[in-house]
Formats: sequence, C-alpha cells, structure tokens
Amino acid sequence: MARSKPLVAGNWKMNGSKLNLADLEALKAAIRDSEGVEVAVCPPATLISRASVMLASSPIAVGGQDCHPQPSGAHTGDISAEMLADAGASMVIVGHSERRSAHNEDDSLVRAKAEAAWRAGLYVILCVGETEAERRAGDAESVVESQLEGSVPDGATPDSLVIAYEPVWAIGTGVTPTTDDIAAMHAHIRNCLRRRFGEESDGIGILYGGSVKGENASAIFAVDGVDGALVGGASLKVKEFLTIISAAG
Ligand code: PEP
Repeated sequence: MARSKPLVAGNWKMNGSKLNLADLEALKAAIRDSEGVEVAVCPPATLISRASVMLASSPIAVGGQDCHPQPSGAHTGDISAEMLADAGASMVIVGHSERRSAHNEDDSLVRAKAEAAWRAGLYVILCVGETEAERRAGDAESVVESQLEGSVPDGATPDSLVIAYEPVWAIGTGVTPTTDDIAAMHAHIRNCLRRRFGEESDGIGILYGGSVKGENASAIFAVDGVDGALVGGASLKVKEFLTIISAAG
C-alpha cells in the first residue's frame, strides 16, 4: 500500500440530477469518518456545487471529471480547474479513456490539465490504460508506460496525484483483468514512476479501475500494489458503492 489509506473514488460520468443528491445524503450518513478509507465522489459538473455544500461537514471529497487547461477564456462549454475549485471540488479526474477517445485527448493535453489542476490547488486522479487490441498485441505495458511519460507532469508527488490504471476494455464491460495481470501492471507502473521520480514516488497511489463491483472488490483490493479504486457504474448505487468502500477498509 503506497498511500497511507486507500482511496475509493466514484465517477458518475454523465449521470445524475438533483434527485441523486439524496444518494449523497445516504453516503454521508453511512460514512462518518475517513479513518480506514478516503472516499470521493465525482458527480457531473452541474452537481458539484450542491454536492460540495451537502458534503462540507463530511469526510467525503467532491471531484470533477475533467477540466480545461486554461483558467478562463473563450472555451464554450468547458470548465476550468479554478471553476471546479470555486464550486467546492478538491480533486479532478484527468485523462479518463472516455475523454482520450471521444474527445481525442492526447498525453500532452492530459498533462496540461493535470498542471492546471495543481495550479488551482486540486488533487489529480490521472487515468492510464490500454485498449483490448493493445493488450492482445502484447503492448499493454509499453502503452501505459508511454501514457505515464507523456501525461504525468514533472513534480508529481504523493500529495498531488494518484494514478488510476483503467484497462479500457474493462470499463463498463463487467470484464476485469486477472488479479495477476492487475498486480503485474501495478508493479510496472510503480517501476516507471520510480525510474522517473525516484524512491520518493513510492508514496504515489495507484488505483485500479474497470468494472469494480461489490462482488469483486475484496479480491481486487487484496492485489499487491492496489491502493484503491476508481469506480464508474457501481458508484451510482449507494449500497454497492458502500460495499466496495467497506472492502477497501
Ligand atoms: C470508470 O469509468 O472510470 C470506470 C471504472 O467505470 P466502470 O466501473 O463502470 O467500469
């Protein structure tokens, strides 16, 4: 365990309306301290402000799902890291594979977004992961290595960033890698970070993401080198998300 506590972060993606604030109330009632596990929820941007007010007296952090590299300007539809912070977020996901593929985000843009997040005082969840074709071709490790090289900014520290290893083929599919494959990729990511940032980077957490559910969470958290999870679909169901959080603690 690189982090002092595991982090379980829920990515709601483009789901949720004000009706789902009741789910946050339920989470808040169930999670009264962050002794064993740090918990974060990344709702759509429309809910960040209300979620932050609601969770202000709770240990549950609120995060954004993306940010623009610039602090402000003529970028219709975009949201800056400063705006997320202003709305109450304390962290942001960058480089999610859905943004890398649907919005053609490359490593240099992801890196700029991570730097923007730091500029605004936000903690970064930076996603990397290979496609199914890349894994089949035996390129998973080299793809992830090159994403880390290109998208993690210089100066990354355990306090400023966590890596989320999310194999693209496991996201939303119900399919997960074997625990051996997760362990091998997490060890590879650890080595890449150590080569670039030295032993101080051993405190940088590495989350696993991709079809984490109530029923597989314990097995995934037991894998060597897994410091928590980025959870998509299952974070939309309070009971299941709580099962995952308990499994991490
Ligand atoms: C994600 O989108 O980051 C994710 C891990 O999704 P899911 O848990 O639904 O696979």
